[in-house]
Amino acid sequence: SRDSFRYYEPHRPSYGSVGKIPLELKRKGLRIVVTGGAGFVGSHLVDRLIARGDSVIVVDNFFTGRKENVMHHFNNPRFELIRHDVVEPLLLEVDQIYHLACPASPVHYKHNPIKTIKTNVVGTLNMLGLAKRVGARFLLTSTSEVYGDPLQHPQVETYWGNVNPIGVRSCYDEGKRTAETLAMDYHRGAGVEVRIARIFNTYGPRMCIDDGRVVSNFVAQALRKEPLTVYGDGKQTRSFQYVSDLVEGLMRLMEGEHVGPFNLGNPGEFTMLELAQVVQETIDPDAQIEFKPNTPDDPHKRKPDIAKAKDLLGWEPKVSLRKGLPLMVSDFQQRIFGDHKEGST
Ligand code: NAD
Ligand code: UDP
Ligand code: UDP
Repeated sequence: SRDSFRYYEPHRPSYGSVGKIPLELKRKGLRIVVTGGAGFVGSHLVDRLIARGDSVIVVDNFFTGRKENVMHHFNNPRFELIRHDVVEPLLLEVDQIYHLACPASPVHYKHNPIKTIKTNVVGTLNMLGLAKRVGARFLLTSTSEVYGDPLQHPQVETYWGNVNPIGVRSCYDEGKRTAETLAMDYHRGAGVEVRIARIFNTYGPRMCIDDGRVVSNFVAQALRKEPLTVYGDGKQTRSFQYVSDLVEGLMRLMEGEHVGPFNLGNPGEFTMLELAQVVQETIDPDAQIEFKPNTPDDPHKRKPDIAKAKDLLGWEPKVSLRKGLPLMVSDFQQRIFGDHKEGST
């Protein structure tokens, strides 16, 4: 392997402007924690950071994450995996913290709502305490759910949202709102360098197959020759971002000079019926559609305004839904029908 082990003196990295220099060509060798790094988004981020030459510590309690998502790094001395719950304090020496730990799909975060809100509040507090102690830069992966069932369309970062504080989604969306508040208070009060991303619906390889999210459901259903389950009348909208676009946005945000919050999402907006149609075109034109009752508090529409990220991060998504969907089909196919070597792609 060309990766040789390097010892890093404790240091505060000096962050320059991102400018036009590609991220890969910038200074290398940071020590980075990715909480939730064994999950869907986290594992793709870890791949990019390792490829760039950083040392990465994944902290994960494996609630929804899987070792299979990161095991291709196990023999790399720049990679470490710690089974740890962020609700408990953690002592590490690092330069940057990407804080992703939190179940993201409604099925998972509603499974144990108290645990979800603890993860968002106490877990984020602990990681901010860590950032403060070691002088690390801290990036929070917040969510478009902070806008709730939005009364503004598309959603701009300055919109304060329309969130039910006592509903079944509140553990997640109010939890993330509190996490944003904590990040801003550590920034203003303790001088922690923070970055806030508001992520819109993201899909791609390594998504949990049975996590109940609409893209993973439809793709798995089409492959298994089951009907696609459309909830409600299917006219509600979402905007679907391919995971590599998100990872690029997260890294630009971390390396850049702006706190945010920044919307990171693909502005292409689809109704669930249109999504079902794209899945039919991509996987099986004969796939049937079955209507099911919708879940409570389901936002009617969602679409990011990404002007701020375009302007200040020089970022915009590159992969359309029709291009991105086929890229996750082979991964799902292999995990559903394959030889059970999950995550090997
Ligand atoms: P995921 O469920 O695949 O990953 C979350 C990871 O966090 C998993 O590996 C899980 O085991 C870990 N985790 C959960 N609770 C933990 C705890 N208490 N301690 C340690 N580890 C814990 O979800 P994802 O889609 O990869 O989402 C990553 C982040 O991005 C989450 O914070 C999520 O809220 C945010 N986000 C994702 C989306 C999306 O569409 N995927 C949209 C908006 C926001
Ligand atoms: N914390 C942590 N790792 C650290 C530093 C702090 O997990 O390296 C936790 C700490 O246990 C506390 C939280 O982060 O629960 C907030 O820490 P902070 O120092 O801001 O607050 P205090 O400990 O003074 O309440
Ligand atoms: N949805 C659907 N069929 C499914 C799963 C979800 O029609 O099998 C709908 C759901 O009601 C919501 C949208 O798809 O309107 C997106 O749901 P998801 O759980 O993927 O994400 P979120 O609600 O968090 O945006």
